Amino acid sequence: MPTPYCYFKGEIVPLEEAKIGVMTHAFNYGTAVFEGVRGNWNPDAQQAFLFRLREHFVRLEQSAKILRMAPRENVDRLCEIAVELVERSGFTEDVYLRPMVYLSGEVLGVRLHNVEQDTLIFLSPFPAYLPETARCHTSTWRRVNDTGIPPRAKVTGIYVNSALAKTEANLNGFDEAIMLNEDGHVSEGSGENIFMIRGGKLIAPTPADNVLEGITAKSVVELARNELGVELVERQIDRTELYIADEVFMTGTAAHLTPIVEIDRRPVGNGEIGPITRKLSDLFYDCIRGKSEKYQHWCTPARVPVAH
Ligand code: PMP
Repeated sequence: MPTPYCYFKGEIVPLEEAKIGVMTHAFNYGTAVFEGVRGNWNPDAQQAFLFRLREHFVRLEQSAKILRMAPRENVDRLCEIAVELVERSGFTEDVYLRPMVYLSGEVLGVRLHNVEQDTLIFLSPFPAYLPETARCHTSTWRRVNDTGIPPRAKVTGIYVNSALAKTEANLNGFDEAIMLNEDGHVSEGSGENIFMIRGGKLIAPTPADNVLEGITAKSVVELARNELGVELVERQIDRTELYIADEVFMTGTAAHLTPIVEIDRRPVGNGEIGPITRKLSDLFYDCIRGKSEKYQHWCTPARVPVAH
């Protein structure tokens, strides 16, 4: 039977043994940074492939730096631990790893300094997060600004902003929210980056538009350039530009690459998956399960022992 394991207080233990106290600083104040990493199961190879593992730990270090934290373990060590967790847990399906650097001290007082910190990584089975094609609306919640809580850092507390937007979207009957910046330009989804295609050009908001600099986004941009000869243009995007875009899609570790077929009750293009999105999606899904020779370096294999 697969059993989830967790890296907690410097050791790998069964997930059910990894518990934090109620006074933990990060639990009270949202003072933690985290990552989400996919382990994509390949049934033919009987292996899980961890997608761009190193890049996720590099971004974890960067998020931590913004909050004046640092994981005790270096990136190489974190990669080793992640592989060991997947192998020991034994799931033969897609999993999601959640590395976190958090203020673990059990002390009161809002601050970032003089509080003990620790690293943990847990893992959970995690099927598709969004439907195959998604319907979105523009959120009434604006994306938080770099001048408030920096969205470039994957801070746990910032996800209240995302949760407000996601719940509003779902309760209004949509799959996902599109969040605007305070200045009214398109920022991102509640947990995804957004792209549009207009006149054959791939266009995304800039890194200064309060987006998380997505690792899936970076990968898809590389595929577009290398395989389709389509270059990325980064610029501000108006909400109504999305209404007249030829194609729109979102990317994220949870969402993979999800075509957006409707926004604010208007079909995107003709309401079906567009040709560039389709090609990118086919390329992307091959890459993440370790099926592409050329992009094999994006995938770290984890060998799950198969029960006989
Ligand atoms: N934006 C936000 C707010 C997110 O939470 C995520 C998911 N990590 C993304 C974008 C996509 O980033 P990535 O492709 O690195 O998962």
